Amino acid sequence: MSINVIEVTDLSVRYQQNPVLENISFSVYAGDYVAIAGTNGCGKTTLIKTILGLSQDYSGTIKLFGEKIESFSEHRRIGYLPQTSYLSRQGFPATVREIVACGLLSIKKFPKRTEKKDIASVDRVLSMLKIERLKDKLIGRLSGGEKQRVLLARALVSEPELLILDEPTTSLDPSARNDFYETVSELNKQINVTVLMVSHDSATVGKYASKLLYLNRQIVFYGSFQEFCISNEMSRYFGKFEQHLICRQHNGNNNDKIS
Ligand code: ADP
Repeated sequence: MSINVIEVTDLSVRYQQNPVLENISFSVYAGDYVAIAGTNGCGKTTLIKTILGLSQDYSGTIKLFGEKIESFSEHRRIGYLPQTSYLSRQGFPATVREIVACGLLSIKKFPKRTEKKDIASVDRVLSMLKIERLKDKLIGRLSGGEKQRVLLARALVSEPELLILDEPTTSLDPSARNDFYETVSELNKQINVTVLMVSHDSATVGKYASKLLYLNRQIVFYGSFQEFCISNEMSRYFGKFEQHLICRQHNGNNNDKIS
């Protein structure tokens, strides 16, 4: 039986009394690669932040690895790549190795010191993401695609079981974007990390993710791409053309045919 990594039940979130998410219920199982899609402002980032315990005004229940978020303390099990990071700003005075090592410091108790085994962990993740050559460079001097790989390495250095990414490819060109999605897909398959990724680009991410969660304040659709592609209800909601665009990428990747 698959482990329930994220379990959200009847979640509603407000900002200053304004409802942003309503009656959201879904589960993510170990090994899933879930893409969260939807138009700007539909609540994708809010959903992720609430799952991570960064939102106060909500009702409903969220469990991570079976534990309610109010009492969840095993943050090492989760890697998070936020939408924007001050770390990748031009001129930020830290090397790639230092940035990636921060991913270990944040889960240490005081006194927070970098030990020998931490350096080995940093080097291992840089090698896994094929960016060892960048280790002594300043992050602010790297290309957009390289910076995102470094931030991905930082999210992965504690060997999390769940990786949460919020629009990680917004600033990347199409080629770097596809490389990034491809890398996440390989990680999902090879090290079996469960992935929850927000993407504004549901068509492209359909090529890599195994499930689609489409939001519009409520859940419009949650299921596999195969289910999405044959759903008449989704054809009516998206229009056949949009549905076809999303499915074409996924089916192209899996050599299936759209029904
Ligand atoms: P998405 O990630 O889908 O673009 P968000 O979750 O960022 O959407 O935002 C959903 C809605 O909540 C938007 O209308 C946005 O303006 C509003 N919102 C987001 N963050 C805040 C905040 N800190 N305070 C008030 N409103 C917010």
